Amino acid sequence: MPIRLLSSEVASQIAAGEVIERPASVVKELLENSLDVGAHTITISVEEAGKKLIEIADDGAGIPSDELDLAVSRHATSKLIRSADLFSIQTLGFRGEALASIGSVSRMTITSRVKEEQEGARLKVEGGVSGKPTKVGTTVGTTIRVEDLFYNVPARLKFLKTEVTERRAIDALVTRYALAYPGKRFKLSEGKNVTLQTSGDGDRRAILAALYGVDVAKQMLEIMAEEEGYKLTGFISPTSLTRSNRKEITFFVNGRWVHEISLSAALLQAYHTLLMVGRYPMTALFLEINPAEVDVNVHPAKAEVRFRNQEKIFSFVQRSARKALLAYSPVPNVAPSLWGTTRTGPSESTSLAGLDWAIGHDEELSVNRDLRLETDVQSPTLQPGSGQVSSSPISNLQSTIPLLRLIGQIGATYIVAEGPDGLYLVDQHAAHERVLFEKLMTQHEMKKIPSQSLLTPIVVTLPPQSSHLLITQLPALQHFGFDVEEFGPNTFQVRAMPALFMGSDPAVALRALVEDFEEDETPLQNEIEKKIAARVCKRMAVKGGQVLSNEEQRALLTDLEACDSPRTCPHGRPTMIHLSVDLLERQFGRRGAR
Ligand code: ADP
Ligand code: MG
Repeated sequence: MPIRLLSSEVASQIAAGEVIERPASVVKELLENSLDVGAHTITISVEEAGKKLIEIADDGAGIPSDELDLAVSRHATSKLIRSADLFSIQTLGFRGEALASIGSVSRMTITSRVKEEQEGARLKVEGGVSGKPTKVGTTVGTTIRVEDLFYNVPARLKFLKTEVTERRAIDALVTRYALAYPGKRFKLSEGKNVTLQTSGDGDRRAILAALYGVDVAKQMLEIMAEEEGYKLTGFISPTSLTRSNRKEITFFVNGRWVHEISLSAALLQAYHTLLMVGRYPMTALFLEINPAEVDVNVHPAKAEVRFRNQEKIFSFVQRSARKALLAYSPVPNVAPSLWGTTRTGPSESTSLAGLDWAIGHDEELSVNRDLRLETDVQSPTLQPGSGQVSSSPISNLQSTIPLLRLIGQIGATYIVAEGPDGLYLVDQHAAHERVLFEKLMTQHEMKKIPSQSLLTPIVVTLPPQSSHLLITQLPALQHFGFDVEEFGPNTFQVRAMPALFMGSDPAVALRALVEDFEEDETPLQNEIEKKIAARVCKRMAVKGGQVLSNEEQRALLTDLEACDSPRTCPHGRPTMIHLSVDLLERQFGRRGAR
């Protein structure tokens, strides 16, 4: 084939491939444009997760009618003249590509008016081909309507995830921008439902409350740090409030949402030793630095930046976060006598009884998990995938456990018991999780989970992403003895819960149902139910650090003995460590190599 110049439509479509990956990317580019022109109110409507329609209306400066044509051309921007301007850029956009890209993969209509003109103008672009601008009566500001996204690039359509996932991506995006710009009013509706609305009064914590519920918002720790021209503001979660993935770690740099690995790394280092392995904090952090210190032009969708002085920023973020964590939630000390003098291990992880479990009782205090026997004896190791504990010298495992005689509780976390063949150390949380899980699944298989009504129904607010998910799961919840109903936007009313969990906080159960679902999870029905059960049981189980009465300890052991798989929790971690008589004898030199 001879070499040819690509037609501008094809070139735009190729360029669009980088910038416009999914409906949420359209929303991002249009939002950024509205913010760039000083809009105060931004209204976003989507239909069918943005595939059918995305419309953004703002009250910003507008586009002069004779510039409409240019606005949708590639490499046309009002924000930059020389490439050197990139290092003093104050706007979110600068590439002059978004409108052209969106126009090339959808049917786009721009309606806009500047205050100097009496009338506004409208321009349609279909598959990259612009029509003629027409005059229309409209208010000052811009409305951009994007219909049938990717109608002319079917390959892209095929790459889109489920509607729930795409909608969640939009929710997550708008939510974060709302947090980043608390002085602006955002309204997001999906079909007829308003999923997010902010007042624009500048109160970030109020937005957090709308997103995560009041109790979570109250617990978030505020950061305000300033040093040598760097400024960090926003919120981080206390160590009691964690997630199973990094998705709730958010950073904005100079008003731009970025996925910056070095920033998350700095943050995670601030939490070092304070969180259990596999748990992550939630943050909404806003870093402001001199634009000359950041290169914003390193990613087509402007999702990454590069810092001139990365190490300094890393250390600033890490120190500021750590300071806030320690100031708000000092790590409690344990009387050393509790452990004798031989215990080794990180002192920060030895938080125990006496802890204030009331903070974040809906999340586990991860510090306690480090208390596993980490000294002389080898801990049993998990064999990948098998969910079974390997037969290390300290455990010869059968699937069941013998009758156990209670000795007592140590560290308010482990139960010590004697069996015919040695000593058992039972992790009370993991064990209770297993017990609840098997009870619930048995009741479920018999198709009758006793449900108990709450004296007063409770109302729970969830972030928009989670509430979509919950809505899709409401029918499955019925089977589990929950009576949950939508009660308003992102708000649910719990009227009954499984009798098994009576006495626990229903709001905690509800959150447990949705918070850990991965973005692309579409499990089969019976898997969903198993997952739901495991998740809720985990949250409802007694925690490490909770003092149990002798009766409670004994009941837990009896219940555990009755389980089908008493040796692991539903997530596959061991519920107990067994020190056999044989091992004890060898360890004490009574037998074997002498
Ligand atoms: P960029 O944002 O990189 O400049 P875009 O393709 O997103 O490129 O937009 C092109 C131009 O159209 C912008 O520079 C701006 O002048 C104008 N524009 C886009 N959206 C709006 C809006 N909502 N209000 C006013 N002007 C806008
Ligand atoms: Mg732009």
